[in-house]
Amino acid sequence: MIASDIMQSETARSSLPPTLYAETARPAPPTPRLDGDRRVSVAIVGGGYTGLSTALHLAERGVDVAVLEAHEPGWGASGRNGGQVNPGLKFDPDQIEADFGPDLGARMVALAGNAPNVVFDLIQRHQIACEAMQTGTMRAAWQPGAHTGLRTTSEQWARRGAPVALFEGSDAQAATGSARYSGVLLDRRGGQLNPLGYARGLAQAAMQAGAAVHGDTKVTRIEPVSGGWRVVTPTGTLQAEKLLLATNGYSDDLLPTLRRSIVPVYSAIVASEPMRPELAASVMPGRASLYEMGDITVYYRVDRESRLLMGGRSIQREIGRAEELGYLVAYAERLWPELRGLRWTHGWSGQLAVTRDHYPHVHEPNEAALVCLGYNGRGVAMSSAMGPQLANRLIGGAKADFDMPVTGIRPIPLHGLWKQAVQARVAYGRIRDWLGL
Ligand SMILES: Cc1cc2nc3c(=O)[nH]c(=O)nc-3n(C[C@H](O)[C@H](O)[C@H](O)COP(=O)(O)OP(=O)(O)OC[C@H]3O[C@@H](n4cnc5c(N)ncnc54)[C@H](O)[C@@H]3O)c2cc1C
Repeated sequence: MIASDIMQSETARSSLPPTLYAETARPAPPTPRLDGDRRVSVAIVGGGYTGLSTALHLAERGVDVAVLEAHEPGWGASGRNGGQVNPGLKFDPDQIEADFGPDLGARMVALAGNAPNVVFDLIQRHQIACEAMQTGTMRAAWQPGAHTGLRTTSEQWARRGAPVALFEGSDAQAATGSARYSGVLLDRRGGQLNPLGYARGLAQAAMQAGAAVHGDTKVTRIEPVSGGWRVVTPTGTLQAEKLLLATNGYSDDLLPTLRRSIVPVYSAIVASEPMRPELAASVMPGRASLYEMGDITVYYRVDRESRLLMGGRSIQREIGRAEELGYLVAYAERLWPELRGLRWTHGWSGQLAVTRDHYPHVHEPNEAALVCLGYNGRGVAMSSAMGPQLANRLIGGAKADFDMPVTGIRPIPLHGLWKQAVQARVAYGRIRDWLGL
């Protein structure tokens, strides 16, 4: 590595949010900024899982591809999420098949259900050091309505041969260590990982396969030109036959209307110091990731070092300290009163893209461009699994082979009011919690 690359890599790294992962993830591979004008087959804007997984799968097929990332790979949601590798979409399989028909609907269900296997296979194949554990995902219910919903979800996945198990009553308590839940559905396909470590490992794997990955390279303009796209950055340009926008909750105005087609909601996470062995044995003993059923999701996991990472609603701005997330700590202590006295060392937030219909969105603004975003908080597995799908289409695969619908970009009405709307929704959730509803 030459001196300017080291300096560039240090500058980019210092812009990372103060997450636990920034201290614990494997080091970032050098990703020097774009310097000069280049021609490539495919240009990708955004160095999160969507962009990196697509780049990796393209490079493996011999395609000349470059990723342009404004900060460093994993700077966005991909390097600061809860680390939960969750199967499925927001809706139950039968609902998805009803919404999209028996063919496309069934393919969407299969894609989303298998998505964690894509992640763990990539980690295995590329030997990515990211504390991965395929220990399952749990969905948990404490309200009667949600419990009934769990039974439905369980039955529908079981009918499709998925490795699920429903725990109720004292079994739910044994599975989680908390008396709060009346039911817990374990899906053994899921698991957990260090998100930033995974993003950096994907970047490295993509580069080893032949992709170029440029950090510190913000795309300021994209222009359709004859034979593809011109992608403009302050330090160089790419002339590309095909373009992928993979900017998710950090989408700006590169494509008019894209930013307004999603709500870039902030979610927050607080992480504890490693728990002492007796505590660590009583909190989530099987080390599955868990998310609660409900409108304002709470999600958590215990990592390999026995730290508890508790995620949930956020103030709609960047957060940089555990002290700002006292309500998440209080909730953790409500779940496991024995946690009182545990030290919470890191707190942070980040933006994820929520769509109006709560499905991920794939768009094709013209025959040489693709957009993929809007995983609604379930993107670790799904965005990775979209990589091979997007790569296939970018090298000329049929639109009909996509296991997701390709739709037009539809701006959300009154989008300018999203912050007020989300704050109101969070406040409503707090009141419901307070009333025990
Ligand atoms: C706090 C939090 C917790 C979450 N927890 C979970 C979880 O536990 N499980 C789960 O499945 N999902 C979770 N998610 C969602 C998940 O992280 C995302 O769905 C996923 O990472 C999306 O990946 P992506 O590559 O599409 O987007 P991102 O990782 O957000 O990447 C987009 C990138 O685009 C770059 N970019 C934007 N504009 C430009 C530009 N003009 N030029 C160059 N680069 C640009 C940004 O810098 C950014 O790095 C969570 C999200 C957050 C924020």
